[in-house]
Amino acid sequence: MTDAPLIDQLGRVHTNLRLSVTDRCNIRCFYCMPDENVRFKPRHELLTFEEIERFVHVAAGLGVNKLRLTGGEPLVRADLPKLVARLAAIEGIRDIALTTNGILLAAQVQALKDAGLTRVNISLDTLSEETFRRISRRDGLDRVLEGIHAAKRVGFTKIRLNAVAIKGITEPEVGPLTQFARDHGMEMRFIEFMPLDAEEHWQHDQVLGGEEIRRLIEEAIGPLEPAERPDPSQPATDFNFADGRGSVGFINPVTQPFCEDCNRLRLTAEGQIRNCLFSTVEWDARAVLRGGGSDDELARLIRDCVWAKKPGHGIDSADFVRPQRAMYQIGG
Ligand code: SAM
Ligand code: SF4
Repeated sequence: MTDAPLIDQLGRVHTNLRLSVTDRCNIRCFYCMPDENVRFKPRHELLTFEEIERFVHVAAGLGVNKLRLTGGEPLVRADLPKLVARLAAIEGIRDIALTTNGILLAAQVQALKDAGLTRVNISLDTLSEETFRRISRRDGLDRVLEGIHAAKRVGFTKIRLNAVAIKGITEPEVGPLTQFARDHGMEMRFIEFMPLDAEEHWQHDQVLGGEEIRRLIEEAIGPLEPAERPDPSQPATDFNFADGRGSVGFINPVTQPFCEDCNRLRLTAEGQIRNCLFSTVEWDARAVLRGGGSDDELARLIRDCVWAKKPGHGIDSADFVRPQRAMYQIGG
């Protein structure tokens, strides 16, 4: 089925699929979820593992070769290693990554690795329990750290630690987080705060830009040098420490949008295909999956979705409209 690549009108070839497996989460980061009264999707609305597997099989036939499991918190979905094993067996899939908050990771990481997971990104905004509580409105930093160490112990390499960069919160964390990553052979990545928080408090002046963070790191630790960029579609701009010990990456969607090289599409936990985090339109794969549709119909839907992708997210344009869904409902 890979007769034509999955391209949009700008010729961007889509090979990278982010799969949200749940909208549920065990913490409540203020930049993502509401604190109280979260209305999660009823379980019967979420795609089953069989449905996700079928979707990925069709997407792989269109050239998708990289997957990332996300959510919500993907590890609150029961039996995730079973899904990983199913996806790893699909012809054409060569990379299956996970983005997690790490809280449930220690208990599951060996099973995930055995099932065929290839990479892990763990969210880590702070090393201070108090700041963790302020951000996530729950306890659990010790468990996140356990999860990070467990990932290393079972043999994951190139572990990435992700921090959302927010003015007034992240500045004092930048040095300690980057040093922590350096000490443990991991890459620290800073992601600019995007207008996807459920409570809609995002303001442009809360974004702590990647350039500013780079300056803080060089002040605290030492000079950085631009790293090679083997994959132009990667969202992060990476730097290596000049002393050869460690690297740091910046994902700057607000101050330096990277839409022109974007190769990603997304499937929400309840089976809606999206061509952008900021899309206001979705393509209903669940209706095809549950309505007796054929693989060709599913393939057509995926192609239609990708073809309709806009040139960019337009966060800074006057007519920018926030998507109705928040980050945890889309899959970050
Ligand atoms: N629960 C998992 C986690 O936190 O890693 C996976 C889902 S989470 C939505 C995926 C990533 O999106 C995390 O690294 C999180 O920090 C990031 N994120 C959430 N809300 C964000 C926002 N408003 N702006 C930028 N990044 C955000
Ligand atoms: Fe949960 Fe991840 Fe959202 Fe935090 S960023 S509330 S961990 S889904």
